[in-house]
Amino acid sequence: MAATQTFAAELERLLPGEVERDVPLASLTTYHLGGPVEVLVRARSLDALEAVGRVVAEHGPPVLIVGRGSNLLVADQGFAGVAVVLGGDFEDIDLAVAPGRVRAGGAVPLPVLARRTAHDGSSGLEFYVGIPGSVGGAVRMNAGGHGRETAEVLVRAWAVDLGGAGRAVEYEAADLRFGYRHSALGALEIVTRAEFAVSPATADQCEATVAEVVRWRREHQPGGANAGSVFRNPPDDSAGRIIDAAGLKGLRVGAAVVSPKHANFFQAEPGATADDVFRLVTEVRRRVHDATGIDLQPELKFVGFEQEKGSR
Ligand SMILES: Cc1cc2nc3c(=O)[nH]c(=O)nc-3n(C[C@H](O)[C@H](O)[C@H](O)COP(=O)(O)OP(=O)(O)OC[C@H]3O[C@@H](n4cnc5c(N)ncnc54)[C@H](O)[C@@H]3O)c2cc1C
Repeated sequence: MAATQTFAAELERLLPGEVERDVPLASLTTYHLGGPVEVLVRARSLDALEAVGRVVAEHGPPVLIVGRGSNLLVADQGFAGVAVVLGGDFEDIDLAVAPGRVRAGGAVPLPVLARRTAHDGSSGLEFYVGIPGSVGGAVRMNAGGHGRETAEVLVRAWAVDLGGAGRAVEYEAADLRFGYRHSALGALEIVTRAEFAVSPATADQCEATVAEVVRWRREHQPGGANAGSVFRNPPDDSAGRIIDAAGLKGLRVGAAVVSPKHANFFQAEPGATADDVFRLVTEVRRRVHDATGIDLQPELKFVGFEQEKGSR
């Protein structure tokens, strides 16, 4: 494909060693599903992201930002465009930036941030130990759990606008207008670093909270290949409760199944395809609507699907 050759070759020229072609996205998601992306950039520095921004401005390929892939369902046919994942400079944690403040790169896994801050006696981020995303993904999604969410602990975030020729941007938390699993971050703005508020405690106290979150997760959520909650909770209700009440625990399409342990988690068993999961999402949505009139909205993000996302 001529257009792909052009932007891929340009990226390879600008970023030797950081660009790969035809990489299976399955390897970058917790579902372990999904076909190849045409071009994958493993960006290790701000300079690399600025270069990606310039290429995007010139050639206009579709862009996918990937964190830990823990909220993504990638289609079996993959993604025609460029995917960007962060590494290198974006993997650092600074525990001593100022009293009551820590900074973490966009690529830092949330459980790592939770454990490192807890070990340091910096309290407030323990809830992140149960959320297998990245700092960047948490800012985008306003990730939360155990009564806390990113909006409450974020002070500011830095990003690069891949749709704005690689322009650097900085947001105070209030600028991001956080809502339930939502932020006002621009679609092609990639979070490179975030600053969080923490409060002093003993490492023992923080680590006990971390252990309690881990215990709760093990007790209430399934392991295996999934992407956490498939649907958003409707106001004052829980999608898991609604799906369970509709009798859909254990419902199966191909090798995708509604978890018997938590009805809003859909497991991909060995041999599953992304299409199996997609059709299970569609079927659950249809059956819940028929039974209750409630139109569940996906929290899971769909990548590379031609049909309307999770449509009934
Ligand atoms: C077992 C399990 C439990 C979970 N529990 C919870 C929970 O309790 N609470 C909760 O909120 N979520 C939960 N999730 C979902 C998921 O972990 C969160 O949505 C998380 O914030 C996604 O982060 P990620 O890095 O994996 O993002 P991805 O899945 O890679 O991407 C999700 C979205 O964020 C964007 N994105 C990723 N990185 C960046 C970046 N650096 N800059 C800008 N945009 C970016 C992507 O483009 C995409 O739009 C769970 C998932 C699993 C598998």
